[in-house]
Amino acid sequence: MASALRLPTFEPRPVSPGIGQTFAGASTNRSLNVICVGAHPDDPETGCGGTLAKFIAEGHNVTIVYLTRGEAGLRTAGSETASRLRTAEALRACELLGATAVFANQIDGQTSTERERVQQFTALLESLDPDIAFTHWPLDTHRDHRNTAQLTYEAWQALGESFALVYYEVMTGVQTHHFEPNCFIDVSSTSPQKRSAVYAHVCQNPDRFYPYHEEMERERGSQAHLPRAEAFVVVRERLPKPFLPFEM
Ligand SMILES: [Zn+2]
Repeated sequence: MASALRLPTFEPRPVSPGIGQTFAGASTNRSLNVICVGAHPDDPETGCGGTLAKFIAEGHNVTIVYLTRGEAGLRTAGSETASRLRTAEALRACELLGATAVFANQIDGQTSTERERVQQFTALLESLDPDIAFTHWPLDTHRDHRNTAQLTYEAWQALGESFALVYYEVMTGVQTHHFEPNCFIDVSSTSPQKRSAVYAHVCQNPDRFYPYHEEMERERGSQAHLPRAEAFVVVRERLPKPFLPFEM
């Protein structure tokens, strides 16, 4: 989308002295299981592709869980064609990032948080044994995004808050609203890789939305004194700050 950036502006933050050395998993030198949940193919890549690429570069395991296959995402084709095309594009995007793709098999535009769906989603997340799970911010204009946030939150609770819950933003000011980040990740080095992964979603015409996200990266970067950043809300009740590896 070519519209002007509608990101709320914040004062630049003071530079934090420590850079992400305090994550509990980091001291064990163990590979972390990082999960990113997105409602549709292209959401995880645009929301946090740069951060996911950093985890992968550091040897951690990243799995992208697509709640749907983007069945409603093509105006000129039916849901079966859209599903096939967008599944292939998601697989390609994950290949470019070095992530594993998992499909949770809900339907684009018809996602649900009914009890059975929560149980299925919780079982899926449990099977992936996450240390960290990224998901949509719950205040979003797209119902599928809100449902994704709720499913992840419910799984987090059902699994005893056994992993770190981290929210990402998409098209802030247009889709995500009222998002005040408490974590910034420098994505200067992985931004080109993120761009490639976003542009793997050819049928979605990334020129409509990538430039907006690129501008968001610069704006978030300026808030954190970085060239480019992705910003997150880390649920911090029991977590130190900085918490994530690479956190500024
Ligand atoms: Zn979406």
